[in-house]
Amino acid sequence: MLHSLTSLISFDSEDKELNRARFEALGRQLPLMYGIIAINMVAAVSTHYHDIPFTLSTLVPGLLLLIGIARTAVVIRDRKRVVPDDEIAKKLHSSVIRILPLAATYSIWAIFLFSHGDARQNSQMVFFTSVTTMSAAFCMMHAKQAAIMILWTVTALFSTFLMTTGNMVNQMIGLNMVLIALVFGALLSRAEQNFCQLVMQKRAEREQLVRLQMLNEENHRLANTDSLTGLANRRQFLAEIDSCVERYENSGEEFVVALMDLDGFKPVNDVFGHPAGDQVLIETGRRLRACFDSMPVTIARLGGDEFGLLFHAPGNDDDIMAQAHRACETFDAAYSFDEGSANISATIGMARFPAAANSRALLFDRADYALYYAKQNAKSEPVFFSHEHERLIFASSALEQALRHADLDREMRVEFQPVLDLASGHTRGLEALARWYCPTLGRIRPDLFIKAAENIGMMGRLSEVLFRKAVDEARMWPDHLTLSFNLSATSLSSVSPVMRLLSIAQRAGFPASRIVFEITESAVMNDFDSAMDVLSVIREAGAHVAIDDFGTGFSSLAYVHRLPIDILKIDRSFVHDLSASTRSANVMRSILSLCENLDIACIVEGVETQEQFDLVCDLGGSLIQGYYYSKPLSAGDTHMVLQIEFSTTAPPPEAIAAQ
Ligand code: C2E
Ligand code: CA
Ligand code: CA
Repeated sequence: MLHSLTSLISFDSEDKELNRARFEALGRQLPLMYGIIAINMVAAVSTHYHDIPFTLSTLVPGLLLLIGIARTAVVIRDRKRVVPDDEIAKKLHSSVIRILPLAATYSIWAIFLFSHGDARQNSQMVFFTSVTTMSAAFCMMHAKQAAIMILWTVTALFSTFLMTTGNMVNQMIGLNMVLIALVFGALLSRAEQNFCQLVMQKRAEREQLVRLQMLNEENHRLANTDSLTGLANRRQFLAEIDSCVERYENSGEEFVVALMDLDGFKPVNDVFGHPAGDQVLIETGRRLRACFDSMPVTIARLGGDEFGLLFHAPGNDDDIMAQAHRACETFDAAYSFDEGSANISATIGMARFPAAANSRALLFDRADYALYYAKQNAKSEPVFFSHEHERLIFASSALEQALRHADLDREMRVEFQPVLDLASGHTRGLEALARWYCPTLGRIRPDLFIKAAENIGMMGRLSEVLFRKAVDEARMWPDHLTLSFNLSATSLSSVSPVMRLLSIAQRAGFPASRIVFEITESAVMNDFDSAMDVLSVIREAGAHVAIDDFGTGFSSLAYVHRLPIDILKIDRSFVHDLSASTRSANVMRSILSLCENLDIACIVEGVETQEQFDLVCDLGGSLIQGYYYSKPLSAGDTHMVLQIEFSTTAPPPEAIAAQ
């Protein structure tokens, strides 16, 4: 009983949202309710004023009016502030409690007025009471308990009074009022239910909208995030450059785009497998994030082992250089993964907006060029795109243009540099080196035109021309001499270029067993699997393989034994540093002993001076190549070096090169 009574007057305070909706609806309707009551009371008093005592004509209505004004003021004030949830629950609850004495006072006042009135005044009071009660209940509809309270308090008191008047008309009116109150109460209940449903429906719609929004945001995030590292992806990076270009176009503000490429990543992937590669990339993302933590720098993984940095508010070139160096230093610590560990470094190329370029595409291209330049010239040293680079781009496109139109057969020549076998004092073989004298641009360095030929897809054709010329010359050498020929990286991407070269040799009657193909470590690592296929073809044909410039690339002794190679050529930078650096001497010593263990021949490149020659001899070198023995010789001059028997004590045959 008590429970059902309390449930009648208490609100479902658990559902805060529903309570708030009720409260807000009441806030809109309560002033209306007090307005209706006030107008109706004034109307009733005006017709009874002279027939009723002061208490009924002024005191009670005045009191009810004041309460109405005070309540309206509170409601209007509440509409202007955010009322906390628990306060709303309390207010709703007290509105039910408060309504009971008010409704009772009002009913008793109406009964007294009825007792003082004549028949006409009484009909006014019946009309007044019914209309006011229903209007008030209707206005309180959103607090159903309060509405029912008004309806039943007034109806119960007023109809009981009418029943007791002994007048049949009054009794019928009383009965009528009870019936109407019953129906109206049911209608109110239904309206309240509808209201609750509407609120819940709105809530469901809103929740659905929030879910959709979250889904949308998640989709957006996934579309713009690199799933492996969690960094921004290429798409997001480009979009951000676009938005920076748009924002800063007219404001004079600057930003810097930096592209970062990992050195040593590919071998990790190829030798240790993709899971190890993935671990390196994840760790790189983590290190970069830590490096630029809370700085205005966007970090992205652009694909493969390429990362991008976008420096907002970058400061001057020195500031950015310092930041780029910091980024490079994050690679100082070795990377460990399940299968082992590796040393990785990074090369960075940068371009500043708007100095280097004022569009996204150009900015990206120029940062990429600076990166390419850094890779070629300044390993581990970040490079800013400069006017010099602009000139170089122009020059290299001029070079590519000239190469496209070159008469390769006429303009290309081959020189030969002998390799000295210290044990016998004789030449062991000769390396063919390409030479190009361009009629318009003059003499061009081979590394430059080889690169240009690779860029424009001409390397295959160029190689064939050079190889044919080299073989034509080598055919005239004594049988024991080998011909070394350099293969570029692009020749290792499939077996057909090498097969074409082998068939050129075959047609010329030059045995494959006298051919050594030189390839660089980085070219092998570029595409390890295809390179292995090419190496197998070479070996199956009976030709030999040399790893060129060993020590400048990945230089992992661990993979040397996995490659089908015959000769290892130690890069000339080690010889250059030999007298000054004990590290170079140690490296050379360990490479020489590794080759001995693996039964691989080892050529020490770039021996220029007597001192270097002696040091290499002391370290146990057995094959040397370099200016000390002979500079590259033009085709007709090779016979001279072949006649010389070289003694380790004899002065260097510099005269040969000079002739
Ligand atoms: P490489 O294969 O390492 O060739 C050896 C380079 O070292 C040659 O430069 C040679 O002239 C130079 N050199 C030899 N002895 C000494 C020395 O004692 N001191 C110094 N400082 N240098 C010495 P070159 O002819 O300018 O060739 C440069 C590079 O161009 C070659 O490096 C090779 O990678 C590439 N190259 C040359 N010819 C060809 C070719 O026909 N095909 C391909 N794919 N690449 C070639
Ligand atoms: Ca070479
Ligand atoms: Ca070399």
